[in-house]
Amino acid sequence: MINRVRLELPELQAGSVWLVGAGPGDPGLLSVLALHALECADAIVCDALVDRRILALARPDAAVEDAGKRGGRPSPRQPDITARLIALARDGKRVLRLKGGDPCVFGRGGEEALALAKAGIPFRIVPGITAAIGGLAYAGIPLTYRGINSAVTLITGHNSEGAIPGEDGGAPDWNALAKGSPVIVLYMALNHLDDIAARLIAAGRGPGEPVAIVSKATTDAQRVVVTSLARAAADAAGVEGPAIIVVGEVARLHDALGWYGKR
Ligand code: SAH
Repeated sequence: MINRVRLELPELQAGSVWLVGAGPGDPGLLSVLALHALECADAIVCDALVDRRILALARPDAAVEDAGKRGGRPSPRQPDITARLIALARDGKRVLRLKGGDPCVFGRGGEEALALAKAGIPFRIVPGITAAIGGLAYAGIPLTYRGINSAVTLITGHNSEGAIPGEDGGAPDWNALAKGSPVIVLYMALNHLDDIAARLIAAGRGPGEPVAIVSKATTDAQRVVVTSLARAAADAAGVEGPAIIVVGEVARLHDALGWYGKR
């Protein structure tokens, strides 16, 4: 057992908000600070992607509110979520804003923190293990591997309008990515994989280049499909989200290093 007194953890104070990453699923991947916040918070505003086993670690009398934002389903608007965090803090609550993975990796943690800062609410950001890091570790796929890649790109496969990034005139430049990033990890990309793969191939990536699709990573339902850039979209058809998709030679290492779910 961790001696938390010796760790001298900071106090989640009344009237403040902690923006906390809950990691990709496995409760064992929570940070000590995240666990501490779960045990102290009066009010928890939680994302849909947060594993229910993690919520079970909350103080039994904590008020838990769902602020789930899942594509397709009705969900509270972002301004309503930030307004709620501010209201709870002003009400003197010790507020835990719990997000899947890391709060600031495709999680709008930055926007929420900015709203808190503007409102004069004290806050702390507690990083979590993002799906790319946790999911790849549990799939036995190193994010970097000497001799394969010295750079990696984490990118979202869809923007807030549901289009693939680049369609609306904004970043990214898939051409540049294809040439400059030997390993590309895609978040929220299951629905646009055909388009993305086609762009990468058009930009010079090999159709046979390995791709790994890791769904429900770090949970009992984790599934890893290793395929190729040309076949990735077809092979993703039967895969349930959430999933991260890894494009690059490191994906091949799953065969040798996949350890999770094995004895
Ligand atoms: N802030 C989160 C990302 C939120 S965006 C983080 O840092 O991980 C939601 C996307 O994250 C999903 O579409 C999926 O691509 C990825 N994701 C989150 N949890 C996942 C999991 N357990 N397994 C695979 N992908 C996951």
